Amino acid sequence: MKIKLKSSLHGKLIVMTVIPLLILGMFITIYSTWKLTSILQAEVKDKLEDLCVLLGQRYDARMPGDYVLNIKNGTEMYLTKGGRDISEAYDIMDGMQEQTGIDFSIFFYDTRMATTLRDQNGERIVGTAVNSKVLEEVYQEKEEHFYTGVDVHGISYFAYYRPLYNEDGTCIGMIFAGKPAQKIEAMIYKAVLPILFTVAAAVLLTAFFCLRFASRLVNSIGKIERFLTNVAKGEFTESMSMDILARSDELGNMAHSAVQMQKNLRDMVDKDALTGLYNRRYGNLHLPKMMERTIRKERVFTVALGDIDFFKKVNDTYGHEAGDEVLKNVAGCLTEAVQGKGTAIRWGGEEFLLVFETEDAAEAMERLQGTREKIRSIKTVRGENTICVTMTFGVMQLRKEMDTGELLKQADEKLYYGKENGRDRIVTAMRGGQP
Ligand code: GH3
Ligand code: MG
Ligand code: MG
Repeated sequence: MKIKLKSSLHGKLIVMTVIPLLILGMFITIYSTWKLTSILQAEVKDKLEDLCVLLGQRYDARMPGDYVLNIKNGTEMYLTKGGRDISEAYDIMDGMQEQTGIDFSIFFYDTRMATTLRDQNGERIVGTAVNSKVLEEVYQEKEEHFYTGVDVHGISYFAYYRPLYNEDGTCIGMIFAGKPAQKIEAMIYKAVLPILFTVAAAVLLTAFFCLRFASRLVNSIGKIERFLTNVAKGEFTESMSMDILARSDELGNMAHSAVQMQKNLRDMVDKDALTGLYNRRYGNLHLPKMMERTIRKERVFTVALGDIDFFKKVNDTYGHEAGDEVLKNVAGCLTEAVQGKGTAIRWGGEEFLLVFETEDAAEAMERLQGTREKIRSIKTVRGENTICVTMTFGVMQLRKEMDTGELLKQADEKLYYGKENGRDRIVTAMRGGQP
């Protein structure tokens, strides 16, 4: 029976383990990236805000007084604080920039009047204007603002803008503290990357072990399935793989039960329920194999067809159950007769076939003689009665170019001869016939 991967146990296990793991991994990665990004942004925002305040305080300490816009040479604008040109105190913002890596600017209205930001030629980019959104939200609405992607001279910045006041509370401009977004994004990637790698490694490792476990599990189940399929077909030769039988889990138990089931079914099919001997079906099926094995091993193949004498009388006199008990006792004796050297088969009713695979003909005959004696001595006690029986055997040794049919036919003829000539005997040769 072919099973598609999608509907197979293997496929289902993959879907149920690896896919949720991948989703979980993605979720953890996205969530931790988002969380880290927001934490880092909040940290940057606090830092920029503090630096804006500090810069204002340092200018106030160095140059007490108000910011005033002045014009020299008719057009050139410059900003003073407390009457002194603020460009005289560049060491304040340059020093802070050096320490923190943060850039600063001071705006009068919307125009950058002092800054640490420089163009490609190394010139400070004073005189540039702030964008209209910042002007409106910070200067006009007098609200501090943090921006994560504000364009400053063609570069995206994380920037903090704070309104700048004179002593009388008039808002005259803004203070800017900012860091290029690229640098902050690099910081974020640096922090997120180890998480990403750890999560990916954990997901891959777990997925690997899940898949390995799943495929071993499915493999074991597959072996049990194959075993049971053969049993279902009536083939009892398949043996269960040792690695499954060695398992101490439910699959191991299942395998042991399957093996037991195979044995029980095999016994039911091959053996006779009353005596526990192999039945005629088994005999017919296996006699050719037994013969072939004996020839291959260069041994002697002897069959003895035995029949209990006057068995009908036993039934008639002591009852059918007593007869059954006699049959069981006789079967026990016949089992011993072939122990390790052949097979005992209940050929039908009170008729049995003994198959000997011996080193020489004498060994089979010795065993058979002993068995006949033992059967004579069996005492089946039923209440006050003791039942004794005898058996007659027709013996035939396998000769070249003889098939099972011929062999059994000749053994049967000898048995008949024995019955005709007094019973309770082993007939190996008929007068006038072949031994
Ligand atoms: P002979 O010496 O010629 O073999 O005489 P016999 O009485 O043994 O032979 P016969 O064929 O006349 O009778 C065989 C009897 O065996 C008849 C049958 O009821 C009995 N028998 C066959 N199978 C069973 C069984 O399973 N249990 C019992 N109790 N009797 C059985
Ligand atoms: Mg009989
Ligand atoms: Mg008979």
